[in-house]
Amino acid sequence: MKADVLSMFPEEIAELVIALGQPKYRGKQIFEALYKGARGFDDMTSLPKSFREKLGEAAFVPTADIKRKLVSAIDGTVKYLYSLHDGETVESVFMRYKHGNTMCISTQVGCRMGCAFCASTKAGLVRSLAPSEMLLQVMEAERDLGERVSNIVLMGMGEPLDNYDNVIKFLRLVNHENGLNIGLRHISLSTCGLVEKIDRLSEEGLPVTLSVSLHAPNDEIRRQTMPIANKYSIKELLAACKRFTDKTGRRISFEYALISGVNDSKAHADELGRLLSGMLCHVNLIPVNPIKEKNFQRSEKNAIKVFTETVETYKISTTVRRKLGSDINASCGQLRAEDSKK
Ligand code: SAH
Repeated sequence: MKADVLSMFPEEIAELVIALGQPKYRGKQIFEALYKGARGFDDMTSLPKSFREKLGEAAFVPTADIKRKLVSAIDGTVKYLYSLHDGETVESVFMRYKHGNTMCISTQVGCRMGCAFCASTKAGLVRSLAPSEMLLQVMEAERDLGERVSNIVLMGMGEPLDNYDNVIKFLRLVNHENGLNIGLRHISLSTCGLVEKIDRLSEEGLPVTLSVSLHAPNDEIRRQTMPIANKYSIKELLAACKRFTDKTGRRISFEYALISGVNDSKAHADELGRLLSGMLCHVNLIPVNPIKEKNFQRSEKNAIKVFTETVETYKISTTVRRKLGSDINASCGQLRAEDSKK
């Protein structure tokens, strides 16, 4: 199998070139060429032609092609469907915020977590993405739009902690000073709550923001929509979150999709407030985005207001997620699902 150079650090590329009889400094040279826009070894004209040919026999530069692109007429949000080397497709969303351009990227093709409200998981997991395939989602959008991305959220398709090693490598690569050089503090990783992996992440020394998809104030309600709740109780999950904040000093962001009649009453808000009271955290409320497969409805405006105000009485900061790209279905696996039906 050929080596995927875009998933490698300069030192790893150096080992490869040394094995091919070239000097070590070519490792850094190739690494930098990748981030300057080379889409293949032939674009790296500073390398001798004979070496480029040899390199092409041992390694490859993966690519992602834009298969579909939707631009919101409302707020300029751009949604991409990328086609990968094996024809699989993933979705990413580019959003313009005051604090900078944010890219929401996928970490897997499909997902095996099975959350009832989520479109990405309906057909299960196809495969995990390589670090290069996560980088390409950012790089190709930057190239297409001629704009830089300053923030990344791992909130597209897939469960990042179910693709642990590749996601960690992606984080270190995207942060590399000779690469995209995006600050880890500008990156959020969202998980449905894989407890052992949260503990591993706490030890990596990566100051990313951890978002935890909670979506319920107790185990009984959580089990109705999230199969992972059968494996870990909220108590175990919050204990891991506490260890993460103790270790990293970083505030956790809890995601809570408000689903009408399921988890959005004032009593639920009180229960959530009591649960999280005293934790170093923030609650991000997301009016659920109804998907075709399931009849979940968004909460009423007033219910959202009462819910927010109630949680805040427990001295917990909350935000209600602003909906970008509502005219282009800019969330969670819907474009890929639509595309694969064709
Ligand atoms: N697997 C990760 C990240 C992917 S989804 C996780 O579970 O966190 C990013 C966020 O969108 C998660 O909080 C997820 O629960 C939420 N989400 C998925 N489908 C949704 C929908 N239809 N409406 C609102 N939020 C949704």
